[in-house]
Amino acid sequence: MRIAVVDYDRCQPKKCSLECYNYCPRVRMGDEIFSFDRAGKPIISEELCIGCGICYHKCPFKAIHIIGLPHEIEEEIVHKYCEGGFRLYRLPQTLEKRVIGLLGANGTGKSTVLNILSGLLTPNFGITDREVTREEVVEKHLGVQLRQYFSDLYSGKIKVVVKPQYVDDIPQVFSGKVRDLLKRVADDERIEEVCRELEMIEILDRDIPTLSGGELQKVAVAAALLKEGDMVLFDEPSSYLDIRARLLVARVINREAEKRRMAVVEHDLAILDFLSEIIYVLYGVPGAYGVVSVPKSTSKAINEFLEGYLAEDNIRIRSKSIKFTLHPPHKAESRVAQAEFPPFTKTYENFSFSSSGGVLYQGEVVGVVGPNGIGKTTFFRVLSGEIEADSPIDMNLTISYKPQYLDQEYPETVEEFVKERLEEDELEDSFVQNEIFHPLKIKDLYSSEVRNLSGGELQKLHIAVALAKEADLYLLDEPTAYLDADLRMYVARVIKRMMDKRGKPAMVIDHDVYFIDLASDRLLVFTGTPGVEGRSVGPLDLKEGMNLFLKDLGITFRRDYQTHRPRINKPGSNLDREQKRKGEYYYAS
Ligand code: ADP
Ligand code: ADP
Repeated sequence: MRIAVVDYDRCQPKKCSLECYNYCPRVRMGDEIFSFDRAGKPIISEELCIGCGICYHKCPFKAIHIIGLPHEIEEEIVHKYCEGGFRLYRLPQTLEKRVIGLLGANGTGKSTVLNILSGLLTPNFGITDREVTREEVVEKHLGVQLRQYFSDLYSGKIKVVVKPQYVDDIPQVFSGKVRDLLKRVADDERIEEVCRELEMIEILDRDIPTLSGGELQKVAVAAALLKEGDMVLFDEPSSYLDIRARLLVARVINREAEKRRMAVVEHDLAILDFLSEIIYVLYGVPGAYGVVSVPKSTSKAINEFLEGYLAEDNIRIRSKSIKFTLHPPHKAESRVAQAEFPPFTKTYENFSFSSSGGVLYQGEVVGVVGPNGIGKTTFFRVLSGEIEADSPIDMNLTISYKPQYLDQEYPETVEEFVKERLEEDELEDSFVQNEIFHPLKIKDLYSSEVRNLSGGELQKLHIAVALAKEADLYLLDEPTAYLDADLRMYVARVIKRMMDKRGKPAMVIDHDVYFIDLASDRLLVFTGTPGVEGRSVGPLDLKEGMNLFLKDLGITFRRDYQTHRPRINKPGSNLDREQKRKGEYYYAS
């Protein structure tokens, strides 16, 4: 079976010469393989398409996918947005008293699944020429469990609550105090109970517009948990949160699952592992189609995901596996100092930060870890010259800086954005092209306007530009935000390879432990009291750094015996206690 999918967000018939149509061999033979919708966008007949792929190669916007799929799967189509649009195959089952996790690349249909499960989107089973009714959905052969689910959902017997992906929008729809927002859905006693668990009591009387990204995320999670519902769907609950907060959220969700069903989309693999019991992996071609895998135990799903091969589905999702090491890598014998950052202080009205100063070696990546509100971004902003320290510092280095919050209000296309920021030789560099621009598919975005990019697309654009720039020091603040797990692992490796090749150091702030593990050679650990006082310690070697960082948090990791990937220990478990006693928070001796 062959599917011909047009990504209608990318397709821009006013800006091209209809290459897809003009170069198509069937069109030249006089066949009516193409029709066009009202906006002039093509719909390709799958019956007539011979799968030559010429339209795919000729399309300047890379908006067309011609893909061969196994026949069996066609019968399992759950939704098609429009003729020639994205298709979803199969659905996950929701389970009583279990948290199900959804893991997959951006654009493979995770939000589509959540929208169907919440009742927001009625699946059409590939029928696009008429409305499919809810009665038809219930009658469809989806299995006993899903049939019951849709019957209950559509009759109002069960109610579904959703924690949306983007929390930055909350201040636009609500401007009052946190407590007033939560009071709309629960009484004071319940609010106090959940907010205490999420360690957010002190923000209850703050105005929503003054909250940071992490605080908004907690509000969104609390609201979803407090609302009455039989099932709660969480779309990326860990964005903007530090590890401690991610674990608090994970624990509350886990506990609530004893009372109702939960489903979570999450890209932080350590958290997804801790949080869910059953995982469905979504695979396919982003923007074209997505297939929901068979259910897998969490441990198996994540191991297979890292291996790049889904065994029961017999699908390879990546050519290379992702490996973790049991012990920190050996230090190089002779390390050459390449850059220094000075000791300095930065004082705000309610917060003070002090940098210990330190040396950075040639080609190394220093992971920067610590809780939110401890001064990490302040540290980067001072080094990059964006703000001044209490007394001026002289870095005397060219710095390439990717900030945490990315301004999206550019009236330009991605191509203009890139060309304004990079010199021609930086852009033409073969490593930049082959290892960054090509794998991150930046050129596919060239004709899109920056302000229309999704969170993940905007993030990879900024990462690509920051890495491509020639500089003496690279500073990347939370590069994993909005990236899917696959891209996180790739970006970790490419930062490392880029620094190795250029012989320059990078410092990278992030909260995703898998990412930090894969990217870092050493760690700079931030300690103190969040929101009051912070200081940097290090850079330390990985073992010492991880121990200091995780001891502060009271979290230990064990290793998966098969893949050596780190797994969070249940607090208070035998292993947790034993490792704390030995002082082995991350690496065994
Ligand atoms: P994910 O959550 O895995 O990133 P989504 O479910 O959001 O994926 O989207 C999958 C694909 O479906 C995307 O390519 C997107 O362009 C397409 N899509 C999503 N919503 C619509 C819609 N309302 N109309 C047409 N296409 C859509
Ligand atoms: P992190 O990156 O570790 O989350 P930040 O450096 O963003 O921490 O912030 C550290 C502390 O400094 C926070 O309490 C924050 O509210 C405060 N802070 C940051 N910028 C300013 C500013 N411009 N004025 C006053 N306080 C600030």
